[in-house]
This record gives sequence, structure tokens and C-alpha cells, in this order.
Amino acid sequence: MAIRDGRVSTADAACWAQLRVEEGGADGLMQKLARCTSERTLHEWALKEPWRQLLPLPYGFRAPLQTRDGGVAMGTLHCLLPHEVFSVLAEKAPRVFDELFGAPAACEHFWAEMHRAAQEMPDGHRAEEHRLWLQRHPMQHAAPQRRIPVGIHGDAGQMHGGEKITAVSWGGLCRRGTTLDTRLLFIVVKHSEAVAGHATLYRAFETLTWSMGALVTGIHPACDERGEPFGPDHHPERAARAGQPLAPGPHGPHCGAWSELRGDWEFLRDALGLKQHYGVRENFCHLCDATQTAGPLFFGDNFADGLARRTLVEPYHTGPNSWAARHPVSPLTRLPGFSIWRCQFDMMHTVELGILQRLIPAALQGLMGIPPGQAVARVSEANAAFKGRSKQAQCLAATLEYRKWAAAKKVPHGSRVKRITVRWVKGSYPDISTEHAKAAALRAMLPWVAEMAEAHVHKLAGLGGNLRVAQLTACCLTAMAKLDETYTRQPRFLTAGQAQQAATHCTEALQALAELTRLLPRGPFRLTPKCHALQHLTWDSALQNPRQMHCYQDEDFVGLMKRTYTACHGATAPLRTVQRYCLGTSMQLAVREQLLQGMRAPKVGHAWRGGPVRGAPASSGPPSGGLPSACNHEAGSLAPAKRGRGRPPKPPVAKRPRGRPRKVR
Ligand SMILES: [Zn+2]
Repeated sequence: MAIRDGRVSTADAACWAQLRVEEGGADGLMQKLARCTSERTLHEWALKEPWRQLLPLPYGFRAPLQTRDGGVAMGTLHCLLPHEVFSVLAEKAPRVFDELFGAPAACEHFWAEMHRAAQEMPDGHRAEEHRLWLQRHPMQHAAPQRRIPVGIHGDAGQMHGGEKITAVSWGGLCRRGTTLDTRLLFIVVKHSEAVAGHATLYRAFETLTWSMGALVTGIHPACDERGEPFGPDHHPERAARAGQPLAPGPHGPHCGAWSELRGDWEFLRDALGLKQHYGVRENFCHLCDATQTAGPLFFGDNFADGLARRTLVEPYHTGPNSWAARHPVSPLTRLPGFSIWRCQFDMMHTVELGILQRLIPAALQGLMGIPPGQAVARVSEANAAFKGRSKQAQCLAATLEYRKWAAAKKVPHGSRVKRITVRWVKGSYPDISTEHAKAAALRAMLPWVAEMAEAHVHKLAGLGGNLRVAQLTACCLTAMAKLDETYTRQPRFLTAGQAQQAATHCTEALQALAELTRLLPRGPFRLTPKCHALQHLTWDSALQNPRQMHCYQDEDFVGLMKRTYTACHGATAPLRTVQRYCLGTSMQLAVREQLLQGMRAPKVGHAWRGGPVRGAPASSGPPSGGLPSACNHEAGSLAPAKRGRGRPPKPPVAKRPRGRPRKVR
């Protein structure tokens, strides 16, 4: 597990196992691990173990890759095919299969709620498109209990030295759980290896589309992603399975139905080949004809019923507004059951890392009495909500005030902003970077800023400050806080009333923000394309709670893949990352299956999590012959132990046995 998470190299794990062997307290598993002196031997050994059989072998496919001399050559990328993961889990770990993808009752409930949404969606919320999507999806051959809804997520993560990777994952939508309980890796693509123009990424998506096609039919495919038939010379083991059901059950075979694509706007742009995106001034939205320039279709005019909402794309109709007429390029548009209305902007990147990153510091400038559009050292204390004659003093007062509020509201420490600094309120258009406040911290802070803004309006009413600006700021913040409250703690599917309420709060907040930008054209408030994205997210989510589709957990998954990738050797990292993922995750799945079978869970050892505890008795290792005591399964979770508090001890760094040279990771 620690190897997968990038915290321990193969050589370190082997050295540690060797130490245990020499101490005399090692079982067979430990002895085998001690013999794995290189990453290759480690994976070869793992493939012979029963627990590793719970995930398939990585699938290699040809794709154009960037070479070091700047040219392009065909190379091999590796992925885990969703239909094979689905099939292997159904066969070898049926309890984990039900838990990961949802038991029959959960699937039936999901589709019943989808149909209810189609009936109850308020006017103007794209109900017709939703109904057509349900009718035309090629999943109709399976009964709702055996139709598992599947979502795809992708995001780019930045590593050391500015290197970037894109990790694409997928998972069942019926189950909520921790990150690794619900996400399964498809592929990791390194940006410096990808050919410009998305050719590499599109080859990966072609493979994904092919695999999702097999998933929706519920049958092992007879051809590869390029249409070449499997046979004795071409994947013979896959040829033997062709035509067989992926997951036969007692009541008929299961199938997986693609239901949503999640990601931030950048990922959606790259994955779907969008020509219309946030970087374009005219027609920047791929869902309607809204523009960023002044005119009848300007997105900031009349959020409630602007002209732009009458130009929404019609994916199931032919004509100039049909989706296919505009964007025929990406292989993802050929996903079985694809509809652009099922491709979601990510709520976290839209609200916390888009709107709140700018709205909160702009509001704080106002609360500190800093004149709009100016950066002054001295502030007007009479109009300020926080005491202090300088920005530093006011920031300190604001921080203390916030801490008091957070303590009273019992905001978890991990979700609190550490301090409000002068950097937050600096410049004509202030913003907060993720280094100063994480998305969750900004979200938790929003109600406090709204409360302060409301209180400030009353204060200004007696002092003669810019009352209209203060009123609009308070209105915008309060509506944003109410919008968040409407979604928080609600299940995946909303009632029509809740969806309408959310749309009202969203419109109220955005109208106030638009009015503020008109009143104060030189800052600090800004109307960005993400405000328009929020409108689509709130109005067009088909009664689904965007907070339940959001990407906090997806971000965790990308973080894990980043750590794994960084720990692998550069040249072989794309394959090794998938192999290490299989190593750690198949162990977790095996332990979980045992737990669900009601067997006594193997005693959780400290070895694989993070190395030995000094002075621990030799007998505390994994039980002989059983599954490796791999991970954090005391609580029955597939997820690894949280970092931070309770973090396991670091792996050993010293005392390498003599005569054993350090091997390459
Ligand atoms: Zn739009």
C-alpha cells in the first residue's frame, strides 16, 4: 500500500522484509517480499498471489507519443479497462462488486429517481432533453436493478517541476463513500508525452469509449478498440471470453450505463474538444450562445430569463443548435448514451475556486472600508466593520472575529482559514490563491462573510457610506450562502421545490454581483464566465444535487495518482503507476471481500501501511498464509488512513542489511 501511495520504494519494502526475515518473525509472504529486489520482480511475484487476481492486467494500446527530440512516434499506453474490472470483480469478489457499484435495490432506486426527475423538473430546466436521454440510452435491454449507473471523472494534476498528468477515473454512482471506495483508475497520461492537439488523449478516450460500449451491452467484446478481432494470435485470453456475459447474476447479467462526465472546465474543454470555452470572448459557452462581450447575448444581463437561455443546445434535434453540428470531434461524444447535458461543470471549481475566491476578498475590502478600485495604506475606520487604522490591524481583527465565529459554529479545524492576511485585500481585483485558503475553507467561511456583510449594512445605514454597494454585497453573499445550504446535506436527487429554490438563490446572487460590477466598473467585483457555469449547474442538473456530483473526492484521487506517479521512474511511470495502483487496490479489495464474507479480518499490520514500529514484537506481522494485512481496514473502509493526524509512522530509512545493494525503484 505504501508502495502504491509513493511513500516507500520497492527496495525499501524488500529491505524491511529482509530485516524481518533475519529477525525470524517473518511468514511466507514476508519471505517472498524480501526476494523482490526490483519493481519488476515485485509485480511478477504479485501476479501469482490470489489477492492480485481481483483486478485485471493493465491493457496496452498504441498511441502517438511525443519523443524527446520533439518528434512523434507510436508507443504503448496502459490502462485498466472498466469492463474487465467490472467482470473480474463480479466473478471473484461479488460482495465488493455489490458494494462498489450498488446492490440491485440501489440501482433500481437510482433509475426510479431519474424518471421522477424527468416528470417533475420545473419549466425551463431542460426536462425534454432529460426524458429523451433516458429513452434513447442503449441500456434499455437490462432491468433497472441490473443497470449500474457509471460516471467518468478526469482532471489534471501538477507535479514537481511543472510537469502535469491527467488522471481519468470511473465509478458506480449508486454508492457514496470514501475516495478509494468509489473511484477506479482508468489511465494516467503525462502531458509532456502527449502529442499536441489531444491526439494521445483521444486515443485513450477511444479505448475508454470502446470499453464503456462493452460495459453497456454487458458482454465481453470480440474485437479490440480498433475493430481488430481477438484471436489465437491477438489477445487469446480475451478471444476465449468474447461473447460471454461480463457479470452474470442469478437474475440475469448486469450492465454498466454511462451516466455522467465530471471535471473542471479545462478538462471538459480538452476531453470534449470544445472550441467554445472560458478563454473565448464570443460564444464562450458550449451549452448556449452567451457571449462575454456587450450585446443582446451578454451573459451578465438578466440571469433569470436572459436571451442566452433561449439558445440552449439541443442534443437530440437536428439543426444549427444540435450538439453534433457544433462539436463532432472527441471520441467521448461517441460514448453509449452520450448527452452534453450529462457533462457537468464541477461545483467546487465553479463556486469555491471560481466565484468565492474573488467574491470573498472583494467583500472583505468593502468591510474594511477600503475605497473601491484603490489600494491604500490607511483605511476609513468609521465605515469599517473591523477595528484598526491599518489594513494589517483590520486583518488581525477580522481573523480573531472569524476564529470566534468558527469555534461557536464548530467548523472543523481542517476546514478553517488559518488567517486573513493583507494579501487577501490587495489590489483592484483581489483574489485568494489555494495556497492561502483551500476550497473547503472558503466554503466554510462564506456564511461568516455573509453575516458580517449583513451587519455592516446596518452600520452603514447610520453612517452614510455607500449603502447601495453594501446592500448588494450582503444580498449576493447571503444568496450564495443560501444556495450552498440548499444543496448541503441533501441526497443526490432533489425535489422540484428544492431545485427551484436553488435556481432562485443562484439568480439572486448573480444579479446582485452583476449590478455591483456595473456600479463599480474599476473593481473589486468581477463577473467571470464561471458565474455563467454556475447558472447552468443550478438550472440544468436534472434535479440532481451538484454537491453530490462534485469533485472533492475526485480531487483526492488525482492527488493519490500524483503521488504514485511521482514515485515511479520517469520512463516507465505510465505503466508502473497502473501496476502499483493494481497492487495496492487489489489488496484492499481482497481484505474488504473477506470482511464482507463475515470472516475475521486479518490483523492490520503496520508493515505495509508505513513500516515497522520500533520495538514491536516480531509476532505482530501479517498472519501466515492469509491475505496481506495491507491497509486501513479496521473500520471496514477501502480508503487508506488519512494523512495528518494519526498518520502512520514513516518507513524505515536506516539499517539497510549489509551486502544488499540499493536497487532502482
Ligand atoms: Zn451557456
